[in-house]
Amino acid sequence: MKRAWILLVLALPAGAQSGIDWDHQKTEILKYYRDLVQIDTRAGNETKAVEYLRRVLEGDGIPTKTFAQDPARANLVARLKGNGSKRPLLILAHTDVVGVQPEKWPLDPFGAIIKDGYVWGRGSVDDKPVLAANLMTMLLLKRNHVALDRDVIFLAESGEEADTTGVGINYMVSQHYGEIDAEYSLTEGGGATVEDGKVVTMNIGTAEKVPARVRLVATGTSGHGSVPRMDNALIHLGAAVDKVGRWQTPMRLNDTTRTYFEKLATISTPEKAARYNALLNPQTAEEAQRYLREHEQQAYSMLRTSVVPTMLKAGVGANVIPSEAEATLDIRALPDENIASFYAEMAKIIDDPEVAIVPLPATRPPSPATRLDTEMYRVLERVSQQMYPGVTVLPSMSTGASDKAQLRAKGQQSYGIGTAGTRDDSLNYGAHSDVERLAEPSI
Ligand SMILES: [Zn+2]
Repeated sequence: MKRAWILLVLALPAGAQSGIDWDHQKTEILKYYRDLVQIDTRAGNETKAVEYLRRVLEGDGIPTKTFAQDPARANLVARLKGNGSKRPLLILAHTDVVGVQPEKWPLDPFGAIIKDGYVWGRGSVDDKPVLAANLMTMLLLKRNHVALDRDVIFLAESGEEADTTGVGINYMVSQHYGEIDAEYSLTEGGGATVEDGKVVTMNIGTAEKVPARVRLVATGTSGHGSVPRMDNALIHLGAAVDKVGRWQTPMRLNDTTRTYFEKLATISTPEKAARYNALLNPQTAEEAQRYLREHEQQAYSMLRTSVVPTMLKAGVGANVIPSEAEATLDIRALPDENIASFYAEMAKIIDDPEVAIVPLPATRPPSPATRLDTEMYRVLERVSQQMYPGVTVLPSMSTGASDKAQLRAKGQQSYGIGTAGTRDDSLNYGAHSDVERLAEPSI
């Protein structure tokens, strides 16, 4: 139960020691975790998990509050009071899970069955380990009468995966922010990488890109498919998609990504290290980027605001020239990007008055990167090193988006943590995979 231990260390006044026997705790932790995986919380069922969490927390004398925009999709808050000398710490996890295709599962997706050293089930990685860790942290802080120098707030939130109606973090932030206002927050979005049975890196999520999607809408003259016209909307759209799809947008590093590549270089093969170091120098960055674009697309995306064509829509018949054609671009902006000027730059690249850029409604607020020079970051780093001597701690910027965005937008320093897994675990059995599972020792 490593995560809870990190949390305890963070909340304890300097010098305090936790006298917790983790071996003894294992059974209880595993029970909560498996119980939570067994509760089917696909969107619309989150209140079931809230009821469970309330029973457990209140059974230990921790009062809870629930907040629901939709009664079936409640959020739960519990608070342990500190002495108020520091501002609160929020520990949160989402209760909902993504859908399942049962035929792809070798066993019950909501069974939390333990087999071959893994706990199998939807939510076993995303996000029930963090939920169970947070729950256990609250119970242990309470049972051990830990003197806290800041309030510790527990939040179980609904609707993270598909918050189309805003029942989860958006609802809590807009309607009940006072309940979750904190200096720091910890949630999913990080984790440890295991190689040859050893934890080699600890990723701490400190930044994420901002979705800034648009539609490209090309207009032209409609007509008969037997008569070629150069103002065909499809020709204009095709050219625009080609240009933006190949556009190498400007590269820019921030604190997180600079530290990330610097540290990654220290644990990489000489060849890779040279490439990561080359990124840090404007004179040599160009060639390194070109390589990453071909071979390490994830890293390439971390360097820039990215533009990826994802959808096309046009035409009603093989013999009809449509008057309109459109493409959707999934744009993921760097945290500090000026979106309006980025769109203006993109219009220059497209260079076609017949193609309009139409922004889609924002799904997350712009969120600044979390700072690395905080007490919280130093503690996360120190505890990682105590637990896994020799581990490299990497601050990381997600190319995706999470509920940390809403918290960062409110000024919280929000960090992503998570479970430990091998590369194979995360590639083939991780969040949103056909089959999800977690190595038992990780929980
Ligand atoms: Zn998640």
